[in-house]
Amino acid sequence: MEPLFTSSKKLGFGLMRLPLTDPDDAASIDLEKTCQMVDTFLEKGFTYFDTAWMYCGFESENAARKALVERHPRDSYTLTTKLHAGFLNTKEDRDRIFNEQLRKTGVDYFDYYLLHDMGKDHFEKYTDLDCFAWIADKKEKGLVKHIGFSFHDTADVLDEVLSAHPEMEFVQLQLNYLDWNSPAIQSKECLEVAKKHGKPVIVMEPVKGGTLAKLPEKAEQAMKQYAPNASIPSWAIRFAASQEGVAMVLSGMSNQTQLEDNISYMEEFVPLCEKEEQLVFQAADAINESIAVPCTGCSYCTDGCPMHINIPKYFSLYNADLQEAAEKGWTPQGEYYDRLSQKFGKASDCIACGQCESVCPQHLPIIEYLKDVANHFESR
Ligand code: SF4
Ligand code: SF4
Repeated sequence: MEPLFTSSKKLGFGLMRLPLTDPDDAASIDLEKTCQMVDTFLEKGFTYFDTAWMYCGFESENAARKALVERHPRDSYTLTTKLHAGFLNTKEDRDRIFNEQLRKTGVDYFDYYLLHDMGKDHFEKYTDLDCFAWIADKKEKGLVKHIGFSFHDTADVLDEVLSAHPEMEFVQLQLNYLDWNSPAIQSKECLEVAKKHGKPVIVMEPVKGGTLAKLPEKAEQAMKQYAPNASIPSWAIRFAASQEGVAMVLSGMSNQTQLEDNISYMEEFVPLCEKEEQLVFQAADAINESIAVPCTGCSYCTDGCPMHINIPKYFSLYNADLQEAAEKGWTPQGEYYDRLSQKFGKASDCIACGQCESVCPQHLPIIEYLKDVANHFESR
């Protein structure tokens, strides 16, 4: 039996926020920059790559083939991808998507394969469509080495899924210091459940979609005073990697600078000490005082929106504006909003169809938040 995680290094390359040639087009992956990042990552001894069917406007798996699979020996990396319930209507869809994923990535097996975005609703759908037996069969046939699922729901649901399916070998959890004690995300409780079931954890969203890359000023000052050369995101990645039971931490790296920063402290990883842990929880308190919409920017919600509303970008502008406006009075976010809403639907164009809320892994009340965004930016 092969060991589940062969890499001694705990940093994984999330291929979800790759560099783009057009910042408003998620599918416009900058291949040259992606190749450079992939090469540096491998040169430094990291091996774990994570993609999914719909990442980067369905182009991430193609980019994995071009930047990784066609340019590096198969035994020099491990590749993960996922099957998402949102794209499944019939049992036939499972193989159709899986075969297409093999074609897009160019591999003849996946090292890790996940049922994507498990939660109460998707658990029912994956069960109805017999996806657990289906994925186990892929493993049996050698098309997948290890099977698991990514998870966005409460700890009791995780317990239910793992109790029903002990054959699942690992879980991917949203875990970061802001969500650690969050009643909605329950990072800490979910990790405890995974440990109880003896399942190693892959962490996603350690920097919470960039939220933990830029902190309220007093939190950044405290961190800089303690460790002047440590980047702000390094605290978040190290927090996740420090937790017992965590085998891998994914970082959705968007440029070479981010990648090199991540590598600088994950090459020879040192867990957070007690004082450092105190500082990250103080930062979490400071953020909780100021953040309006806890959106991670995953963009799952945008493809199906009939009004083409750029939901995550509007939320990001809204959050930034609320934080800055209090201090500065005027900010540029309103202008960004006006420009973006010439290209995409405005927040007030929302027809409340609910499509976005049905796929949001953070279970955000998007329709209500869009009303706040519209009030904030469209009545200036
Ligand atoms: S509820 Fe509004 S924002 Fe969401 S998909 Fe429908 S129109 Fe788009
Ligand atoms: S609103 Fe939800 S689905 Fe959309 S980007 Fe934010 S977290 Fe993702």
